[in-house]
Amino acid sequence: MSLDLTTYENLLAAIIVEDGIAVHDPATHELIGNTADSSTDDVDAAVARAQEAQKSWGALTHAERSGYLHKAADAVKESAEALAEILAREVGKPLNGPNARFEAGACEAWLRANADFEVEDEVLVDDESGHAVLSYVPIGVVGAIGPWNWPMMISVWQLAPSLRMGNTVVMKPSEHTPLSVQALVHVINQVLPADVLQVLPGDGEIGQAVSGHKDIDKIMFTGSTKTGQAIMRSAASDMKRVTLELGGNDAGIVLDDINVEEMAQELFWGAFINTGQTCAALKRLYVPATIYDDVVNALAKIAAETPMGQGMSEENVLGPLQNKAQQSIVAGLVEDARTAGATIATGGNPEKDQPGYFYPATIVSDVAQDNPLVQNEQFGPALPIIKYDSLDQAIEWANELEVGLGSSVWSADEAKAREVANQLIAGTTWINKHGAVDPRIPFGGVKKSGMGLEFGVEGLKQVALPKVTAL
Ligand code: NAD
Repeated sequence: MSLDLTTYENLLAAIIVEDGIAVHDPATHELIGNTADSSTDDVDAAVARAQEAQKSWGALTHAERSGYLHKAADAVKESAEALAEILAREVGKPLNGPNARFEAGACEAWLRANADFEVEDEVLVDDESGHAVLSYVPIGVVGAIGPWNWPMMISVWQLAPSLRMGNTVVMKPSEHTPLSVQALVHVINQVLPADVLQVLPGDGEIGQAVSGHKDIDKIMFTGSTKTGQAIMRSAASDMKRVTLELGGNDAGIVLDDINVEEMAQELFWGAFINTGQTCAALKRLYVPATIYDDVVNALAKIAAETPMGQGMSEENVLGPLQNKAQQSIVAGLVEDARTAGATIATGGNPEKDQPGYFYPATIVSDVAQDNPLVQNEQFGPALPIIKYDSLDQAIEWANELEVGLGSSVWSADEAKAREVANQLIAGTTWINKHGAVDPRIPFGGVKKSGMGLEFGVEGLKQVALPKVTAL
């Protein structure tokens, strides 16, 4: 490596520009630096370079590309603290807890896992009638468009399998977190051949230029359902392949046999990981009347006691919302719930004078199923807890919405939990935890939460073309 990229100052200096769009810390509003912005001409030029680079990258063996991914993981590991600091300042997420350092660590883990999966040719027929093999070949250029909540980790979810399968990648990060993704790509590019991985900071217009580009062969998108729908429409003209990881409104159903004290921390972090700004987080919790008050009180206590503050302070584990629009969505939903008669068990009243897009960790009880805080994705630190009398009713409520990313069941009885899990409509149902992703386990949504799968060998196959050779 030419320049030491293990310090925040050096890494930041490598990616910021003098004239560009100012990026601020959402906790303090301090200027972090200016980011470059891309034009649609830049998209054309990057895609042309990516097409050229794909020829030799796609011709490498799996072992050679795996070797590159391991080197990329080594580079990320070396720069992990600098990357975490960029996340802490730009996203606002604290260094500690399941936040910035955790995210930088996950980037390394996902790079290594994707390097190590075996992708074998599958012999489908081998008898006197003939011989048929299914193999997986590169698609070409992948356009990867991402959100702001886990900007580095989600970028790695997109780029690592794509590169492994012989594609080149053009990334379009969220306009809210351009520095995080540029920093990650800059680190990884210390070890990759030129133009195999490129990043184009810009807004939705640049996203549109990527998703509609005739020479991009596959779109990996993570973001809102609305944008996912727009991307699917724009992909249709060229019949581009798409993987869509979209919004969710994950339900958790607590059964009446749990030990509330033992489960409370796990329940809390299932909902409040990354200050609630997580796609597959617990966003509505159904609790039986018999233990309702105990669950509300236990979660309210943890919410009130968990330190929230700016990302760079070591003691915090909850941070601000990343942007003002998201803060307004959360505040509006909680106020509407209050007006409708719900109880704010804790939180709910943001301090007016503090800088930053903070919203306190909020537990809302006595809230009805049809309340907007239950029906809509809050994507922030406010959890509605809905009381139920019959389990069938809770299952019906859990399945009622148009989205189906994750869900969870909480019980001391594994068999009973599995029985309930089998009735929930979602890409993943966790038992006694929520949102725990693993690079070996496929992850994806159903209904309006998306299409396709990421992670594991299944995820690799989705960034490749299936090719049958038969004789
Ligand atoms: P968003 O849809 O507003 O933006 C996502 C990205 O799409 C950004 O980079 C944006 O610039 C780009 N974009 C906007 N309009 C576009 C267009 N017309 N064509 C192409 N690109 C366009 O989403 P967000 O607010 O950044 O992210 C929050 C949402 O993402 C939440 O709903 C959350 O649940 C979801 N999410 C899902 C997952 C998952 O894995 N399923 C993970 C994280 C976040």
